[in-house]
Amino acid sequence: MKTTHTMALAVLASAAVLTAVTETAAAADSKITILYDAFGTDAAMKKDWGFSALVEVAGKRILFDPGNDGETFAANVKAKGVDLTNLDFVILSHRHSDHMAGLGHVLTANPKIKVYAPREGFGIFGSSLPSSFYRKDESLAPEMRYYDGKPPDVMKFGTAWQGANFETIDKTTEVAPGITLIALVSEAPGTRELKELSLAINTSDGVVLVVGCSHPGIEKIVEAAAAINPKIHLIVGGFHLVVATDDVISKAVTALKDVFKVENVAPGHCTGEPTFAALKQAFGSRYIYAGAGTMLQLGSSAGIGERRGERPALEGDHLTTYRKLARRENPFRTLAQNKQCRKMGRKLNSRAVTII
Ligand SMILES: [Zn+2]
Ligand SMILES: [Zn+2]
Repeated sequence: MKTTHTMALAVLASAAVLTAVTETAAAADSKITILYDAFGTDAAMKKDWGFSALVEVAGKRILFDPGNDGETFAANVKAKGVDLTNLDFVILSHRHSDHMAGLGHVLTANPKIKVYAPREGFGIFGSSLPSSFYRKDESLAPEMRYYDGKPPDVMKFGTAWQGANFETIDKTTEVAPGITLIALVSEAPGTRELKELSLAINTSDGVVLVVGCSHPGIEKIVEAAAAINPKIHLIVGGFHLVVATDDVISKAVTALKDVFKVENVAPGHCTGEPTFAALKQAFGSRYIYAGAGTMLQLGSSAGIGERRGERPALEGDHLTTYRKLARRENPFRTLAQNKQCRKMGRKLNSRAVTII
C-alpha cells in the first residue's frame, strides 16, 4: 500500500518534493496533535466528549485544553508519548469541564506550569478585586464591618486548583512573539457572559487558529484573528455548531469560506456532525480530518494541502500532511504581531513565505 502510494507520488512529484515529504514525517517540528475528542481513527486513543490539543510550533510546546476526564486524558497523553513535564504553557479555553477536567493530571506532572485562563470574576481559576469595590459604612461597630473595617487592599478569591500558576487574561494578548490569546465573551443564550480564549499563531503561512468551543461564535473569533493577519491558514478545534440549524450552519460555513477566505479547516469537538458534512462539502480537500490521535503536520512550501489529485501523504499513519516542509531550519516561524504586520496584512505575509 505504502509502496503503491510512494510510486504514485513519484509520478506526481519531483525527487526533491519526495525528499521533503519524507522529511515531514521525520522532522515533525511543527505540529498539532489532537489528544482528546469523541471521534477519531487511532485505536490507541480513548474517545470521549471534550477537547485537547498539543500545539508544537515555533519552538514552543503548548497544551490547549486538557480534556474532559483526567484518566482518559492521561491514557491518551501516554498513547501519544506526550511529555507533560516539557511544556511551555497550558491554555484553558474556558470554564466548561469538557475543556479543563484533565488539568489535575497536568499539574501532577508539572505543578508550576504557567496556565492561561480567561479572567472571570469570582471564577474557578481564581481572581482578585480591590477592596474599594464594596461600599463602606464607617458608622458601624467594627464587628459589623467586613475585616473589622480594615480590609486588605486586594481581596483574593480562590481557585479549584490551589497552588497552580494561573495567569488570567481579560483582553486579547500576545503572550509570546506571534502567539496571541484572543479573549472574547459569549453573547449566546445559555452561555451569556462566558469568557473564552482562542489561540492564534501568526505564521509565515497565515494565522493558525486553535479554538476550544467557540462559544463567542466562530465568526467573531475568526474576525479577531483576521485583525492580527487577514490570511487565515488553518482553524482547528470546536466550532460550536453541534445543535445549530442548517441555516445557521450554512451561514457560518459561507462566512468562513467566502468572507474570511479561510484556507484550511480541521474541525473537531462541538463542531457537529451536520457541520462536518457542510464544511467537507465546502472545503473539499482543504477539509483536514482531525480526530483524537490525529497529528497535523505544519509547514511551509509553495503548495497548499495535498496537491490536486494527490491523497494525503501519510493517511494510514494518522498523519495528515497538508503542507510539505521544505528543507529549512524554522519551517513554521511566527511573525511578530505588530502594527506594520497588521497594516500590511496579506502583502507582508506573502513576502514572508518567499523568504523562508
Ligand atoms: Zn464549552
Ligand atoms: Zn466543549
